[in-house]
Amino acid sequence: MSERWNLNGIGMTSQRTRDRMVQRLRDQGIKNEELLTELACLPRHIFVDEALSHRAYEDIALPIGYQQTLSRPWIVARMTECLLELPQRPVRVLEIGTGSGYQTALLARLFNTIFTVERIASFQNKTSSRFSALGLNNIRMKHGDGFEGWPDVSPFDAIIVTAAPEFIPEALLTQLKPSGCMLLPVGNCNQQELVRIIRTSHGYQKESLESVRFVPLLDGVV
Ligand code: SAH
Repeated sequence: MSERWNLNGIGMTSQRTRDRMVQRLRDQGIKNEELLTELACLPRHIFVDEALSHRAYEDIALPIGYQQTLSRPWIVARMTECLLELPQRPVRVLEIGTGSGYQTALLARLFNTIFTVERIASFQNKTSSRFSALGLNNIRMKHGDGFEGWPDVSPFDAIIVTAAPEFIPEALLTQLKPSGCMLLPVGNCNQQELVRIIRTSHGYQKESLESVRFVPLLDGVV
C-alpha cells in the first residue's frame, strides 16, 4: 500500500517542514526527546486528504471529514508527553477517537500495544491502510462507542480520549489498571479542560491541566 503515499514527502511535506514543526513544539515547551524524534519521523501529511497535505505541518487542526478534525500537533504532543512522564511506561494503551489515526500511529511508535475505538466506520479503512504503509502492527482497532471503552480487552495502563465528553465516562474509569492514567478533555463546546486522572488504591486522583478545544464525544456508532 505504501506506493499510495510519498512517505518522505516533498516541498511543504518534506523533512525540513517536519523539522520546523518539531522546533515549534520545542519552543512551545515540549521537551521529551524520544517524542520529538518520533514526531520528526512520522509523516503527518498522509493522515489528511492530499488536497490538505501542504498544511499538515502547521500548528492547526485539520478537517478529516464527517465534521471531525485531526488535532493540532501541539495537543497531540502534549497528551503523548503526559503519558511518557508517568513513573512507569504504559504497556497497553486505549485510545478513544481514532479519527485520522495520527495520534494512534504516534502512540504505536512509543508504547507496546494500542487499542483504538472509533464510532465512524468509514474512517477505519483509511486508517488501517495508513498503519500498514508505516509498518505498524501493534494497533488493534474497534468500531464502537467509546463511552463504553473496550471491556473485553481491559484493563489498560493508560487511556487517552481525543474528543470531549461533558462528564467523565464511568466505564472508562473502571477499565484503568491500578496506578493507570487517563487523559481526556472534559466540557462542552464553549469550555473544556484537559483532565488527568490517576487510579489510586482508594479511588481516583483528578487534576485539570489546561484549557483545550476538541470536537465532542458523541453517543452511538455510524
Ligand atoms: N485522534 C484523532 C482525533 C479525531 S477527532 C486524530 O488524530 O485524527 C475525534 C474523533 O473521535 C473522531 O474521529 C470522532 O468520530 C471520534 N469519536 C467521537 N465520539 C466517539 C465515541 N463515542 N466513540 C468513539 N469515537 C468517537
